[in-house]
Amino acid sequence: MTTSVTVSVVVPVYNEAEVIFESYKRLKRVLEGLDEPYELIFVNDGSRDATAVMLGCLCDTDPKVRLIDFSRNFGHQTAITAGMEHASGDAVVVIDADLQDPPEVIPEMIAKWREGYDVVYGKRAERKGDTFFKRFTAAAFYRLLDRLTDVDIPVDTGDFRLIDRKVCDALKTVKERNRYVRGIVSWLGFKQTGVEFVREERFAGETKYPLRKMLRFAVDAITSFSHKPLKLSSYVGVAVSLGSFAYLAVVVYLKLFTTTTVTGWASTMAVSLFFNGIVLMMLGILGSYVGRIYDEAKGRPLYVVRETKNFGSAGEGVEYRDSCSAVG
Ligand code: UDP
Ligand code: MG
Repeated sequence: MTTSVTVSVVVPVYNEAEVIFESYKRLKRVLEGLDEPYELIFVNDGSRDATAVMLGCLCDTDPKVRLIDFSRNFGHQTAITAGMEHASGDAVVVIDADLQDPPEVIPEMIAKWREGYDVVYGKRAERKGDTFFKRFTAAAFYRLLDRLTDVDIPVDTGDFRLIDRKVCDALKTVKERNRYVRGIVSWLGFKQTGVEFVREERFAGETKYPLRKMLRFAVDAITSFSHKPLKLSSYVGVAVSLGSFAYLAVVVYLKLFTTTTVTGWASTMAVSLFFNGIVLMMLGILGSYVGRIYDEAKGRPLYVVRETKNFGSAGEGVEYRDSCSAVG
């Protein structure tokens, strides 16, 4: 395939009015230094502040800036997906808008790509900006995910990465909802490597990932890549049955061969409540898988685009984009 753009940079943005110009400036400086044709795709994920207007201005002044404006907030992972679907470069880089991922690492990624790697992910050597809680939970989560899944998802990596055109095209064929993009990229395979970087503090504004969203994201990651939680109920079930059979034998023995009678309303209640809790928890796990099956079955589009700017008539995914804008 011949494309006129070598590098596409995809930036998902949600309520980033405070940082957007600064990110644009830093990205622009790095991209101009590359001496390659490039495009800078901002995906406005239904921001409620001035972000959309500001991005519109950037598009008017700089033809290399392109905008995909969602009809509402569809989420970070969906925004990344839309950007990748619209990108036309030979290499596609995904980077956060808040400058936590330093744009200056992009040339390093491109160098690795030129060496022949298809995926170059950013590995967080240090997380400067994040609270102890975020660092701790993130580290624990990545390790838990690694234990639960068969896919080799590199630990401590985010979505800051470069992917080759081949990988981007392969990714477009993966239509699943509730996506965990970095996991899907690992699942795709190809030749992968990492470059280390120090994750900076957010330039301005605050995180768009409150605890609630972080938990949902973690559940998406686990349910997308592992069936192990579903098997948990069988393991617990077998263990509990064996235990209760043994206990039953003891009770029968006491009844037949001794004068001791087993008493205790409190202990019965405790055991009953404990196991009811476990059963409900297992039902919850089952529910989260069923809910995801339901989402897939509905077959709704992943996102709806209100408008796009500066894409011209070129580029992949035009058909999809048009059908989406028709809905919007
Ligand atoms: N983001 C988005 N949609 C959302 C939440 C976040 O497009 O619903 C964008 C956000 O603007 C930023 C990136 O995703 O560019 C990462 O978000 P954030 O920096 O808030 O996450 P954190 O770094 O705290 O994990
Ligand atoms: Mg951030």
